[in-house]
Amino acid sequence: MLNRRSFIKKAGLVGLGTLLPAGPIGAAAMRSHSRIERSGCGPADEEPCSRNDPSALDDLLAIERWEDVRDEADCREVVRSYLPPSGRLKRWSPIASSWIGPCPFCHSGCFEVSRELYACTDCRASGSPVEFIAQAESLTRAEALQKLARMLDAGMLQGVRREYARFWRVMEDAANFYHSILLERPEGERGREWAKRQGLTEATIRQLRLGYCPSAPDTLLRDHLQEQGYSEDEMRVAGLIGHRIGQQRLIDRHANDVLLVPVHDGRGRVWSLLDEPVDWRPCQEVLWGAREGPLYSHRYDRLVYPSPGWPQDFRRHDQLFLTQHPLDVLLLRQQGLSHVVCPVGARSWDKRAVLRTACAMADHLIHVSVGPMDSLLLDDLLKVVAPYGDRVRFLTLPSGTSLGRLLQSEGSSRIAKLVASAQPITRLLMA
Ligand SMILES: [Zn+2]
Repeated sequence: MLNRRSFIKKAGLVGLGTLLPAGPIGAAAMRSHSRIERSGCGPADEEPCSRNDPSALDDLLAIERWEDVRDEADCREVVRSYLPPSGRLKRWSPIASSWIGPCPFCHSGCFEVSRELYACTDCRASGSPVEFIAQAESLTRAEALQKLARMLDAGMLQGVRREYARFWRVMEDAANFYHSILLERPEGERGREWAKRQGLTEATIRQLRLGYCPSAPDTLLRDHLQEQGYSEDEMRVAGLIGHRIGQQRLIDRHANDVLLVPVHDGRGRVWSLLDEPVDWRPCQEVLWGAREGPLYSHRYDRLVYPSPGWPQDFRRHDQLFLTQHPLDVLLLRQQGLSHVVCPVGARSWDKRAVLRTACAMADHLIHVSVGPMDSLLLDDLLKVVAPYGDRVRFLTLPSGTSLGRLLQSEGSSRIAKLVASAQPITRLLMA
């Protein structure tokens, strides 16, 4: 078993992270897939981008390309295109997104395929559409990726492009609606007051198209989108509405008194709405089925706000803050400090992809946390950051403070001092 001491010893030798798939297929697929990823035979391997390595950008672009193609493919459609007419897939259940059928490789009936992954519990074949094509045609993963991209470009496969188009449209309408609430609607009064107290200017609110969702009424967005002609199913799969646990009524996912930050890419497409609680609450109610939609889960996990574009943002900063709080990003950017991002989907450090994205943007990454970190957390962090060595440093702020508040109360010189005090994880472990 890997303990802290042995890990430190080996840290310099560890080169690769892994892209663990998250999806409905289950543990068998995850074990198999992670083994494939670690085998180092394709462009999906996540190598830290070394500042002195001229091929680092090419590697990153190859990974992004790999991710984009995988995002656009529908594994169910890929599998169906390889099955004979007699080998039909059937829905797992009337409401499930997974399908079952004969395994194309061992012909057993233990084969399951979802939007993202396939897995056979008999012959243990599993992976993404890329691995499926590679296995079906005895290709390398790079060759299979090229073939999948060609099939999508030629229209031989539809993928999920249509779903994406609808997803971006409903997300755009939702972002505009929440923005109008914060700017001018009566339901946004509490949000406006809070934003003002935090120091957010109207110019920032308009420029970043910030929004607000009150806790009540809890169907504001649902009612608005219904008037615009969207179905409940479209809203649900976009993650905009859902059920509270134990309840049947569909309500707005963000109906929890939150500031909303639309996460868009360089083409203006809204991928997600980050929320920042207007008031601290001891317990957030969890919504079942709150995050679905066409987004491949791994893409969601690697997103940061603001979203970078390649190659222009590759190693753009000397130092980059990684904070958990969207408000920190807003307040620093309002003061002209652009070297700060927050994760969008990954709220824990076991999501290595977000670290890869952030580290590709800067020579040094400063992870900001509030309050002391216990040894268990440090152990988890060590496993993730070891490949990056001292390029990742840690900054622990006193409880009750935040990066944004320190900037407001003590100015940018305080931020510069904080940068200087950030520590590599090896130093934290020895403390
Ligand atoms: Zn099989």
